Amino acid sequence: MPVARKKSMTWWDTSSGKQREKSCHKREGFLVSCTNLNETVMFYTRRYTEMTENNRHASVAIVGGGLAGLSAAAILARAGHAVTIFEKSSHPGGRATTKQHDAFFFNQGAHALYQGGHGETLLNELGVSYSGASPDPGSYLALDGEKLHALPTGVGSMLGTTLLKLGAKGELIRLFSTLKQIRIADIQNVSLQDWLEQRIQHPQVRRFLLAGARIATYTNAPELLSAGLLLPLLTARVRYLDGGWQTLVDGLWQAAQQAGAQMVTHARVAAIEVGEEGHTVRQADGTRHAASAVLLATDPGTASDLIANGTHEALSRWAAQSVPARAACLDVALRRLPEPGHLVALGIDRPLYYSVHSAYAKLAPEGGALIHVMKYLRPDDPAEPETTRQEMEKMLDRVQPGWRTEVVKQYFLPHMIVSNAIIQAKQGGLSGRPGPAIPGVRNLYVAGDWVGPEGQLSDASFASARSAATMIMTTLAAQKGSYAVTG
Ligand SMILES: Cc1cc2nc3c(=O)[nH]c(=O)nc-3n(C[C@H](O)[C@H](O)[C@H](O)COP(=O)(O)OP(=O)(O)OC[C@H]3O[C@@H](n4cnc5c(N)ncnc54)[C@H](O)[C@@H]3O)c2cc1C
Repeated sequence: MPVARKKSMTWWDTSSGKQREKSCHKREGFLVSCTNLNETVMFYTRRYTEMTENNRHASVAIVGGGLAGLSAAAILARAGHAVTIFEKSSHPGGRATTKQHDAFFFNQGAHALYQGGHGETLLNELGVSYSGASPDPGSYLALDGEKLHALPTGVGSMLGTTLLKLGAKGELIRLFSTLKQIRIADIQNVSLQDWLEQRIQHPQVRRFLLAGARIATYTNAPELLSAGLLLPLLTARVRYLDGGWQTLVDGLWQAAQQAGAQMVTHARVAAIEVGEEGHTVRQADGTRHAASAVLLATDPGTASDLIANGTHEALSRWAAQSVPARAACLDVALRRLPEPGHLVALGIDRPLYYSVHSAYAKLAPEGGALIHVMKYLRPDDPAEPETTRQEMEKMLDRVQPGWRTEVVKQYFLPHMIVSNAIIQAKQGGLSGRPGPAIPGVRNLYVAGDWVGPEGQLSDASFASARSAATMIMTTLAAQKGSYAVTG
């Protein structure tokens, strides 16, 4: 077994998901001695080398270069697979792409990374660095009618706010003090609407929790949304990122590329021709690419269309049952902020959100401001763009009077898909989400924000990418008669 001469040995530990490194002295052909390595580690090291050598011949094709595709590519390339990403657009990133205008960084709508979530964990393991800060919940405002109130996010703001009457405050305090006693597993298949009707007496508390659910899940469909999702997210903290989410896209692609992954851009995949031993990726221009395994890191509709002309039973069912969470986004760069004290506001009587992301992250030049306004759309809302925009601008008029004369640049995105699938009670909540393995087809997987039992939004993309990559590594290693290191 030929082994290249090198001073350190790195391997991807599939059990911990961490990269490991040991210093070694090797002679051509086999391992001679390794400092501080016992026999067991030497055994695993040899096995790793075999697996890596095997995997180098096992190619993996990934359709879609968003966060899910890039994350899976980095993991798989580091494990020694020959990875090729096919991305239909001119660049990777998908919905996590950031546009730059002068020194303003525009994410596509308000993006916030969950602290301690699946995304942060994987990014840290892959060595993808980013910086940023959390908004201060103590400064959040609530917009109800034309009035601004303090948004109750803690005991202080709860007692002081004019948003809630005394009875509502009492009920909310009682709810928060008993949150830990609620068994989340028991309410996964209960809709938020039913749960609120059963558990909450005061109409003001219901309205407040509905607004909280919108901001926490980007979903405006309480009759569909699993109640199991809301409660843990009510206390979740987030981070706005310096330079926008492009830093994650760039960092992930760099990690994947450094490990040998390749990307073909302007490459719309038209079909996956499923085979016994491997599959063939067929691009719209007719180019074909053979791969041992394929990961579909796209939306569910595309994933379904790519296999057997959309007739694969499970994939077409998954696509049909997915109800996307949509939003209209107004992203605005201002020369200056007319009302510096108004940084975050949540609509109580309307499904609107406003936040000055540049107050917490480096997204605007000195003195300037980068603002996101968002309308959480109901699944059946046709969201006529002009009316929607006027509604969102009206919110800005209220929280930042005079903003119109300060505009440097703005983008209006009337129909964004925030998540490809609302986490629905009737599907059993998180555990009802499909994939990553596709029933009945070997070496074919899905990943994305609609896949797998962990996380929501980008956290689901990260978690399912890791899970799909692990399954691919395990299956291909087993097929080659080797197996993954569990050191
Ligand atoms: C307005 C808005 C706000 C958001 N806010 C948050 C937030 O605060 N926190 C959070 O965690 N998440 C948030 N998200 C969600 C987050 O952006 C997504 O979950 C994440 O970026 C999805 O990554 P992905 O790789 O799964 O999918 P995508 O980004 O959709 O990537 C799929 C890729 O596949 C490519 N593709 C599709 N079909 C083909 C084909 N046939 N051939 C080749 N390529 C193809 C696409 O071009 C795309 O690049 C938000 C999203 C939006 C829109």
